[in-house]
Amino acid sequence: MRVGFVGLGNMGGPMCGHLVSAGFDVTAFDLNAAALSRWVEAGARGAGSVAECAAGAEVLITMLPAPPQVEAVWLGDGGGVAALEPGSLAIDMSTSSTAVGTRVVAAVGARGVDFLDAPVAGQSIGADAGTLAIYVGGPGAAFARALPLFEAMGDPERIFHLGGNGAGYTVKLLLNLLWFIESVAVGEVLSVGVRAGVSLDRLHAALVGSPANSVFLERDARMVLDDGDYDEAFPMRLVTKDLGLAVDLARDVGVPVELTALVEQIHRRARALYGDDAGEISAIRLYEDLAGVKLRLGQT
Ligand code: NAD
Repeated sequence: MRVGFVGLGNMGGPMCGHLVSAGFDVTAFDLNAAALSRWVEAGARGAGSVAECAAGAEVLITMLPAPPQVEAVWLGDGGGVAALEPGSLAIDMSTSSTAVGTRVVAAVGARGVDFLDAPVAGQSIGADAGTLAIYVGGPGAAFARALPLFEAMGDPERIFHLGGNGAGYTVKLLLNLLWFIESVAVGEVLSVGVRAGVSLDRLHAALVGSPANSVFLERDARMVLDDGDYDEAFPMRLVTKDLGLAVDLARDVGVPVELTALVEQIHRRARALYGDDAGEISAIRLYEDLAGVKLRLGQT
């Protein structure tokens, strides 16, 4: 299968590499010349533009930062839509908005091209290992056609066809939202407990053994609690993008989301304080700084 791949960053680069390793005929493009040459060395053919990448491709995949780049690459001058042949398949794996997705679906549909939104979870570690979870929205036949590509990049047990176009973007935004709500909740609860004089080790163990436990508390927060690692593999510039998209989604469907709006603002504050490239668990750092404590296990 001839595949075009646009966006060779922390996630897209290794995902493209897995397609090459699986034997697909991959042509790749990125605005960043260093990223492009890295994956050309790994076996992809290099293209000089999106249109060149899309020309002759049976499937064009994008893995871009945010909705503005997704819109530009698909719908802009020299974009993917105009370059694709009728009958080919368009897939966006970025965490993007249903609003931009709807415009891309309409534009590709007019050219006889199916579209799948297929954002991922699993961080750059999962992209490197080829074990991403993939959340797919779009026609069933297009999903079946794309499955061998998804299986080369993801964990076959966690490739979910969730419904029509937009369902993939929606589920991805919601799972991120829930995780970032939990990061705020855990930062708040642990810092209050430690300031109230309870040992963090005992507090954490008691909460993990209680009905209030969560995967975030038991597993993911351990990066901070064990090592002081706020996880820069996913930077705050992308975290706040995703939370803003979750607020937009709720507004679009008419559901009031006071908690989501507050959690978005807390993360925007953390980004303003610690920088665009600060790690995704910076909400806990914010509570540590507000409470004047360091939340580290094994010290009390
Ligand atoms: P990144 O910033 O590392 O990479 C994006 C790449 O897109 C860059 O190489 C950039 O040069 C390229 N690009 C931007 N505009 C372009 C254009 N117009 N034409 C061609 N190339 C262009 O981002 P990432 O971490 O790889 O994330 C990509 C997407 O995956 C984002 O939507 C992100 O939210 C999502 N995501 C990231 C993670 C993670 O842990 N990093 C996890 C799950 C999902």
